[in-house]
Amino acid sequence: MPRLLVHAAIVAALAAASPLARAQHAAPTRTEVAPGVHVFATPPYGEVGLDGNSVAIIGGDGVLVFDTNGAPAAARAVLAEIRKLTDKPVRYIVNSHWHWDHWYGTEVYREAFPDVVVIAQEHGRRMMEGPAIAFNKPGLERDLPGYLAMLEKRQADLGAQQPPADAARLAALRERITMVRFFLEQKQGVHHVLPNLTFEKRMTLHLGDRVVEVRHEERAVTPGDAYLWLPQDELLVTGDLLVNPIGFALSCYPTGWLRTLEVLDALDAARIVPGHGAPLRDEALLHATAAVFRKLLAHGRDAKARGKDADAAKAEILPALETLRKQIAGDDQAAYESFPTYLVDWFLHRVYDELAGPLDDEIAPIPAQ
Ligand SMILES: [Zn+2]
Repeated sequence: MPRLLVHAAIVAALAAASPLARAQHAAPTRTEVAPGVHVFATPPYGEVGLDGNSVAIIGGDGVLVFDTNGAPAAARAVLAEIRKLTDKPVRYIVNSHWHWDHWYGTEVYREAFPDVVVIAQEHGRRMMEGPAIAFNKPGLERDLPGYLAMLEKRQADLGAQQPPADAARLAALRERITMVRFFLEQKQGVHHVLPNLTFEKRMTLHLGDRVVEVRHEERAVTPGDAYLWLPQDELLVTGDLLVNPIGFALSCYPTGWLRTLEVLDALDAARIVPGHGAPLRDEALLHATAAVFRKLLAHGRDAKARGKDADAAKAEILPALETLRKQIAGDDQAAYESFPTYLVDWFLHRVYDELAGPLDDEIAPIPAQ
């Protein structure tokens, strides 16, 4: 992958040029979910990207950071906030899985703390090492630059228009372009820092008196999902095993994902930090998501036996999921709209793949609509 250096001066100029780009550098929002456990959420990259939650666990002799955002700039902003809370070093990073929005900021921690131990599940690391980089390549080299060029052409056309185009419309377009360019430069400039410690099923870290269990059950969202259980706080940090409000089922492992959610459920967590979205005070979303998966697994098996393809199966089951769909989406209209694709369509296609034979660890393409 070509390495483009993002010069501080360019970033500063971009930030000065646009309120949106300034928002990108705004302090992340912070929620303390247990004493010394802080969840950081960063602003989205306009319409082109979204960071995962980053969680700092401050222990007696150091800090553990679970997931490092999707870009160095975001990780830098989170680290600046952590430094306001403690002067203890970040000793451990845990990357939940290979999706870029959970580990592309790790270099910031490695620079600041050269001895930091970066942990992932062994299959998670294997995905990060090769398949993840290859999967992101077309987006970085073709799709995002193409999208940027399209926006720039639209800007040029609008600028040349007579009578002149609406100034507010032009300004909004300029902001979008600034954000897409910023995001592209951030991702192209990433220095991929791979985990230097892997585990298979369980690993326990002691941060002073604080106990952090790093766990993996089986293939679920990806071949190697890691999550945290903090027994003293009854706190569960799920990564994308649970997303508030809706998960992203592309290339998932349906049976393993449901079984994993059942293990998480049995922990009876007092609080849950999902991979994206606000922390949860109850298990309602966990139960609803598991209920959708249970219905889709059963319906997929039945529909396939009746000779229906995955798209027909989806059309059949969608009305029966309406109550769960509303419960999961709440008043989030965008989540309601994306439910049939991100959760139902992608999950069902994988149910069919799974029924056709054991799944491998290849990243499955987006099913045609
Ligand atoms: Zn994610």
